[in-house]
Amino acid sequence: MKRKFWSKQILDLVPYTPGEQPKINDLIKLNTNENPYPPSPKVVQVLQNFNTDHLSRYPDPSSSALNKVLADYHQVSNNNVFIGNGSDEVLAHAFMAFFRQQEPILMPDISYSFYTVYCDLYDIKATPIAINNDFEIQLTDYNIANGGIIFANPNAPTGSALSLSDIEKLLQVNTESLVIVDEAYVDFGAQSAIELTKKYDNCLVIQTFSKSRALAGLRIGYAIGHHELIEALERVKNSFNSYPLDMLAQACAVASVEDDEYFQKNLKTVCDTRDWTEQQLTALGFTVISSKTNFLFATHSAVSAVDIMTALREKKIIVRHFTKDKISNYLRISIGTDQQMQQLIAELQQIIK
Ligand SMILES: *Cc1c(COP(=O)(O)O)cnc(C)c1O
Repeated sequence: MKRKFWSKQILDLVPYTPGEQPKINDLIKLNTNENPYPPSPKVVQVLQNFNTDHLSRYPDPSSSALNKVLADYHQVSNNNVFIGNGSDEVLAHAFMAFFRQQEPILMPDISYSFYTVYCDLYDIKATPIAINNDFEIQLTDYNIANGGIIFANPNAPTGSALSLSDIEKLLQVNTESLVIVDEAYVDFGAQSAIELTKKYDNCLVIQTFSKSRALAGLRIGYAIGHHELIEALERVKNSFNSYPLDMLAQACAVASVEDDEYFQKNLKTVCDTRDWTEQQLTALGFTVISSKTNFLFATHSAVSAVDIMTALREKKIIVRHFTKDKISNYLRISIGTDQQMQQLIAELQQIIK
């Protein structure tokens, strides 16, 4: 009974379950919102030319070169940028740094499921706020006492996005606590709240290289906000792990940001494929939530989500299903290549008919 050595908090903890990363090669993997294309060729060059002698040294603890290109890219100062080992780590540090308050924090009832795990890990109370019948976040419902607010924009797993003016209205009324906007998917067509961080010192924006920059394997995320918010994140980071990003991740991330042409082209390709897939799904009788992301959230009136998922799996296509009541008849389908999506639609035609 080794469990007797566990801390009480860990005994009760229900960890986040990441989407499956199967070892089988010929699967069409539409379950974790990865980019179906490789990262920029400039990133590949960095890896090919990397001098491995450097690996005996520790990496730059503050990822300064990456900090500089990100600050330039987003037109903020160096001290407005915090870099972490994936945005999951940035989120974890932010929960630790800002959300351990008297009042509960607020978040949508349907959102990124890691948020509630961080709450349990750090003993933070949270009040879920229901999304509306159209599966949209209603920010006017957040105008109540709170210890902080977090939502993903666009939201996950629904894909729908808020306008910047709605977010600004929230920041104007909610002045006494921090608002975190998780922009993991913002590059696929939503408006970033980074502009608002310059005007409102209680707004922190978090982004990632995992989806739009096709670098999920390197684990790179960052936050942008008022320099005192960044300072708090640095404190947590330097009390936990001073070297969150390895040398390769830092160098590759810089190369990715510097190749904006590739980035924009990739985004357009994925968005075009998304829009084509949405039309096809609608024609097959699916209800699809309008998406500003690299995935579609869809339900079918005649065939259940679980049956569709099981049938697709037999055809070696994997999609993501969530068991939460409100969304248990929906599937989240990541956008793959054109060919992969054509195959998906062809299989669905068989399954639905
Ligand atoms: C994918 C995702 C993340 C995590 O991204 P990483 O940078 O890979 O850790 C965070 N938030 C949302 C909403 C996501 O979908």
